[in-house]
Amino acid sequence: YSDLVTQAKPSHVHTEPLAVPSKTLMGPGPSTAHPRVLEAARLPLLGHLHGEFVKIMGEVQEQLRYAFQTQSRYVLAVSGTGHAAMEAAVANFVEPGDVVLVGVNGIWGERMSDLVERYMGVVVRMEKEGGKVFSGEDVERELTKEPKIKLVFLTHGESSTGTLQPLEGIGSICKKHGALFFLDTVCTLGCVPFNVDKHGVDITYSGSQKCLGAPPGASPLMVSSAAMDKLQSRKTKPFTYYFDINLLGEYWGFKDNPRWYHHTGMVSNVYALREALSILQDEGLGEAWARHREAAERLWDGLERMGLELFVEDVNERLPTVTTVKVPEGVDWKDVASHMMRKHKIEISGGLGPTAGKVWRIGIMGYNAAPQTVNRLLHALKEALDLYGGSFA
Ligand code: PMP
Repeated sequence: YSDLVTQAKPSHVHTEPLAVPSKTLMGPGPSTAHPRVLEAARLPLLGHLHGEFVKIMGEVQEQLRYAFQTQSRYVLAVSGTGHAAMEAAVANFVEPGDVVLVGVNGIWGERMSDLVERYMGVVVRMEKEGGKVFSGEDVERELTKEPKIKLVFLTHGESSTGTLQPLEGIGSICKKHGALFFLDTVCTLGCVPFNVDKHGVDITYSGSQKCLGAPPGASPLMVSSAAMDKLQSRKTKPFTYYFDINLLGEYWGFKDNPRWYHHTGMVSNVYALREALSILQDEGLGEAWARHREAAERLWDGLERMGLELFVEDVNERLPTVTTVKVPEGVDWKDVASHMMRKHKIEISGGLGPTAGKVWRIGIMGYNAAPQTVNRLLHALKEALDLYGGSFA
């Protein structure tokens, strides 16, 4: 075949096994995976329609109902990262001309507005400055002003600013006005108190690599029966094949039909997700929420003791999973983050969107929500500030 091999081999042929350093991932995600989850991901592949694998998919759906706290049968994992599930939701539930109220208090509302427009929806922006959240009255005011709103989008855990969106009462306000409640739970599912059915959420997507501590690639999505009714009443098919929820539902068993090949299931990611959800079930949701809260409080306390200021003032609106902490005057956030990585192999990250250059973002998610890990981080941060904190140190 020599005339078909026209491209020379790369100068180094990697015959040695792939080696990567072990790091403590405490940025906004991915978070460090639980070793059990990584073990599960290396199990032998099964065919994505084999009975054994279909059984595992069913188990994952049961586990997701527990994580989401819902009785809805319409739960699945979308192939791809959080954005894939986000796009799947928009592509299916936004029809051309649909009016969507989008809460914009960070980059996730911005991205959602962009996505809704790409699928020809009409965005009504409801804005708050970064670090603030929306109230039920804010939502009700917009729904009263614009009765055509079909969907209300909010971000439960705004990872670019570090806010936790309160959910009480919002679902019932949406229902009263005939709108579906659409929520991003990428940074909260499994870490922060949340009950889909009680909070009246109709559509929510999450990610595997944050609170659940699995590799990125299998993103939970939940749809209520009211949202499924909206999907069935579409005038056109969704403008996506890969993310068509009716077709995905045939593969995930929404209709008790024989399983059908839509696209090749992400076998290893599903193993990993199942293991991550098993660990969550074993611990108990309430216990996992409390562990995250305690770890976050330990972090907040430690940061304040160092003289640092938290970006979100109101403790009830502060996201336990991603903390935003102000970079003091005269300090370069990158020097500090680089030192922590170089010396301690701990990742923290800078701001994003409205917080770019202003804050560090510190993730306390899944496996890392432990007192010793938070202590290690605080120690490394203190050391970095002593070295690079200038007059602040
Ligand atoms: N929503 C939120 C709140 C997020 O934090 C993220 C990830 N940073 C996403 C959506 C997108 O997820 P992914 O990067 O996995 O596509």
